[in-house]
Amino acid sequence: MDEFVENDVRAGHFALRFAAGVDLKLGRLPGVGSKTVQRLAERGIRDIGDLLVTFPRKYRRVYRNASGTTLANERPEFASFLGVIDYVKKPARHSRAPLEVHVNVEGVPARLIWFNLRQDWFAKQFERGRFIEVEGAIDWDRGLAQLSHPEIKVLRAKPGSRAERLEIEPIYTSYEGIRDGIVRRAIAAAAQATLSALEDSIPTEIIERARLMDLRECIETIHVLRPVPIEELEERVSRARNRLIYEEFFTLQAELARQFAIGRRLGKAPQIRAVGLATRLRESLPFELTKDQVDVIALLSGDMASRIPMRRLLQGDVGSGKTIVALLLAVMAAEEGVQTAFMAPTEVLAVQHFERSKALIKDLGVRLGLLTGSTAASARQALLERLRDGKIDVLFGTHALLTEDVRFADGPALQPSLLEQTVDSRGLGLVIIDEQHKFGVEQRNALMAKGVDPHLLAMTATPIPRSLAHAIFGDLELAVIAHKPAERLPVRTILRPRTVVDKVHVWVREKVEAGEQAYIVFPLVEASAGWEGRANVVEEAERLASGVYAGLRVGVLHGRMSSSEKDSVMRKFGNGEVQILCSTTVVEVGIDVRNASVMVIDGAEVFGLSQLHQLRGRVGRGIRQSFCVLLANDQAGQTAWERLESFVTTTDGFKLAEIDLAMRGPGLFLGVRQAGSAEFRFADLLRDAEVLELARADARRWVLGDAGA
Ligand code: ADP
Ligand code: MG
Repeated sequence: MDEFVENDVRAGHFALRFAAGVDLKLGRLPGVGSKTVQRLAERGIRDIGDLLVTFPRKYRRVYRNASGTTLANERPEFASFLGVIDYVKKPARHSRAPLEVHVNVEGVPARLIWFNLRQDWFAKQFERGRFIEVEGAIDWDRGLAQLSHPEIKVLRAKPGSRAERLEIEPIYTSYEGIRDGIVRRAIAAAAQATLSALEDSIPTEIIERARLMDLRECIETIHVLRPVPIEELEERVSRARNRLIYEEFFTLQAELARQFAIGRRLGKAPQIRAVGLATRLRESLPFELTKDQVDVIALLSGDMASRIPMRRLLQGDVGSGKTIVALLLAVMAAEEGVQTAFMAPTEVLAVQHFERSKALIKDLGVRLGLLTGSTAASARQALLERLRDGKIDVLFGTHALLTEDVRFADGPALQPSLLEQTVDSRGLGLVIIDEQHKFGVEQRNALMAKGVDPHLLAMTATPIPRSLAHAIFGDLELAVIAHKPAERLPVRTILRPRTVVDKVHVWVREKVEAGEQAYIVFPLVEASAGWEGRANVVEEAERLASGVYAGLRVGVLHGRMSSSEKDSVMRKFGNGEVQILCSTTVVEVGIDVRNASVMVIDGAEVFGLSQLHQLRGRVGRGIRQSFCVLLANDQAGQTAWERLESFVTTTDGFKLAEIDLAMRGPGLFLGVRQAGSAEFRFADLLRDAEVLELARADARRWVLGDAGA
């Protein structure tokens, strides 16, 4: 459905840069034939650059030409040694027993075994008394060395003695069909051929100041291409790895800082200062704004008064009241004759924003529009025309706003009733993105490109840990609503095994009969293969409506319904016509129905904590005590239960997001859409948060000068 434009500010694509003209084809490396090239390509290793950043999964000590004493004392896990064949135990024909060759290494016994040997000649070469060179991994079975399928060479005469030495060898992930030795040799050859042409992407000045390891040395260290004293290996490899982590962060942060700088330099944003209408709106609200809301509005109005476009990420936990803040800004813009685009990730939410706003500002003369994927073609045409003519002040919508033919006014959006004074204005001057984490950076940019330097307010209710916010929204400044409107009672969260589901429904029924409304959330839309035993909304809603909820008004909401069906159900739930809403996670973001005070999540173990937090945020919006009941499969496993228990006791969305991030990793935490920018190849946002701060400060100072640090 959505166009996903590849963004060049992408991590997880750590790439080495080489001087022009260097041949990076894998096929040029000795021992790498066309089959190996193909197998490597299947694993994303397409050229020498990729190969050099294919890092070992571990290191092992290798004793070369080990003496009997070394074998006995060190018990190495990998060694090569010279022995004398003691005796050979050949399996009988057709027997499944292995071939065993017992050798003596200066008085220390070792057993070599081979299974499933077909060729007779192989067994025949082992003759008692002959010398044999052996190399391989050693299993130590109660002090007896055993090697299965080692590399061997039987010798007729005793070779000259060779010095024993200890080496460190990198071990790569074993690729099917590619022997470890091949990868190792290919990497050594690749390094030899190309490292001198490798270019460092971090400025020398920063390498020196931050005391980073040189990039070539990093590669050589990690692949152990130069001998390293064993006691230093760990420390050196970790320095090399840190340098790469730093580089990953630095590259992304420098790019974000560059974007930030471009935004700052342009300085052609409309100055938005009018507060007449906004004041009227504030006075007409049915509630007092919280102190946090007032502070944030002051901060953001300050931003919008400048010709330098605002770049803000407004963070506030679910229910903290971000929407009204955004609406006030949009009204200010409208008064200045500047158009606003207000984008939300779902149709249901876009409609809700539109309807609510319409009700709130009906007397102010601000003209609103709504554009979603299901706006009828003729209405759409008329709407777009009015938009272009400057006759729409605030356009609400979904991704549909990104469509190419959605164009805002070119010149001043003339609106006589609002514009007595002459203002220097254009079409789109303010972009508001609700639930920003549901969109990609490139979608945000696409919408902004419809204006000239518009101000940007991105909002998110999924609390993003600071480290992630920096990594992904490095070009935005934060504004935070820390506290929710006061009079609300915290939601009471209850965790129960699914076995008590019937009792829970009886309890919900009582609540609803007493005038409250309830959400029942299921993980699935309909029964599907592979998910047997999981409740799905279609079947369950039907069963409940004719069973325990008979006589009550039950509605169904899920993503496969048409937009008008979804709208109509949401509207009915909003005005109380529907009392119990059986839904999937489409209600997850933004939905606001104050009378709903019960949320049951059937199959809670399949959801992430941030997602559960979003769901829980749908209740607790009125003055009544609200409940969130999690029903989890009792087979769900201990970690799942522990995770859910931490959810019961934690109401702080930021903490939950941290727990989620630690347990699920950034890719899952953010959803697929933003995974591209959140996934690093070496870096881990939680583990390496300090390196991130450092790299961010350095990158900003580098790109923006001292003012940016
Ligand atoms: P979110 O930050 O999750 O987007 P909303 O903007 O949807 O939260 O606000 C949640 C509810 O709180 C809405 O019904 C809104 O009208 C209401 N609200 C907003 N600000 C206040 C306030 N200062 N006092 C009381 N209720 C408020
Ligand atoms: Mg919201």
